[in-house]
Amino acid sequence: MPNDIVTNAPLEALSTFRLPARAAELARLEDVAGLPDLLDTELPVLLLGGGSNTLFVDDFPGRIVVNRLRGIDSEVLDRDRVLVTAAAGENWHELVRWTLDRGLWGLENLAMIPGLVGAAPMQNIGAYGVELAHCLESVEVFDRRTGRSERLAASECGLDYRDSRFKSADRDRFVILGIRLELMMHGTPVLEYPSLLEELERHGHASPEDPRTVAAAVMRVRKKKLPDPGLIANAGSFFKNPVVKNPVAQDLVERNPDLPSWPDKPGCTKLSAGWLIDQLGWRGKSFGGAQVFDRHALVLINRGDATGQDVLRLAREIKASVHERFGVELEPEPLLVGGSV
Ligand SMILES: Cc1cc2nc3c(=O)[nH]c(=O)nc-3n(C[C@H](O)[C@H](O)[C@H](O)COP(=O)(O)OP(=O)(O)OC[C@H]3O[C@@H](n4cnc5c(N)ncnc54)[C@H](O)[C@@H]3O)c2cc1C
Repeated sequence: MPNDIVTNAPLEALSTFRLPARAAELARLEDVAGLPDLLDTELPVLLLGGGSNTLFVDDFPGRIVVNRLRGIDSEVLDRDRVLVTAAAGENWHELVRWTLDRGLWGLENLAMIPGLVGAAPMQNIGAYGVELAHCLESVEVFDRRTGRSERLAASECGLDYRDSRFKSADRDRFVILGIRLELMMHGTPVLEYPSLLEELERHGHASPEDPRTVAAAVMRVRKKKLPDPGLIANAGSFFKNPVVKNPVAQDLVERNPDLPSWPDKPGCTKLSAGWLIDQLGWRGKSFGGAQVFDRHALVLINRGDATGQDVLRLAREIKASVHERFGVELEPEPLLVGGSV
């Protein structure tokens, strides 16, 4: 067994939902050279970043490898484009700040998303009308099937709404080692989200010329809406916005004219999961220590003493009630280790 592996390790501090659970083994990956040894075990292995999209609803009978690979670098490609390379263990928001400090456009709408760089391609992180896919050039991975490292072009990563081949078709096959982003020296702000535009207008910046102005507005909006995981344990949005066929959406919107919806892939419409949950009066409701956040129906929180079973029960009840009333299937966004909804 490699050095520095902790057995029967507590996981509470490694996930922003802070559920009480333990892992059979816990290790830290500080250097790529140590990876093959850490993966050489009969136990299941789970890579972990900042734990802001992972809930340990039960003990994990395997080895958790916490990614701590560091490093950010950049290369000017031409008069407009800059290639930024970041290792998987870098903090996402620190990377956003690093790019903003250099006046680069591309990540400003993705400011303040918790977690580490390595998890960003997993669910193609997105906020305020921008997804990682907008500027991802490639992902460096270690392929556990071949035992080799390689670079996958963004087009090979199966990026979709809160999804990728890493999260679905090829789950557990790749360890993400780092990403490359193509950012712009001269960009155009993406201001399609009404709350972001309103915030900019309120501060007299309806046409921002600096990505830092956009990022500052994004951060103000996020602080108003979302609980700070440092203060209230949570994992952000608990359910994905459901994507349904157009006729289903049309029927629902006719019967519920306030239901927010957005065009998605051809023939499909995305519906607001938060709105659906809100209509059923879930805000503030709880089971044991797990509660629906009173300011945002899409966010579940741990009031301090929640167990994995509390969270599963609450999430299952929400899902069943939305299905019963609207006929729409909700799917959890975070990884639930040791249980399912
Ligand atoms: C308050 C709050 C707000 C949020 N807002 C948003 C938002 O606006 N948009 C959004 O998209 N998300 C949001 N999230 C969710 C979360 O922050 C992101 O999904 C983030 O990318 C998760 O990063 P992490 O390092 O914490 O991931 P973790 O929870 O550590 O891991 C997430 C998944 O990635 C896998 N993984 C992690 N690192 C690696 C690696 N190196 N190789 C292979 N697999 C790996 C894990 O096994 C797990 O399946 C929010 C969360 C919170 C708490």
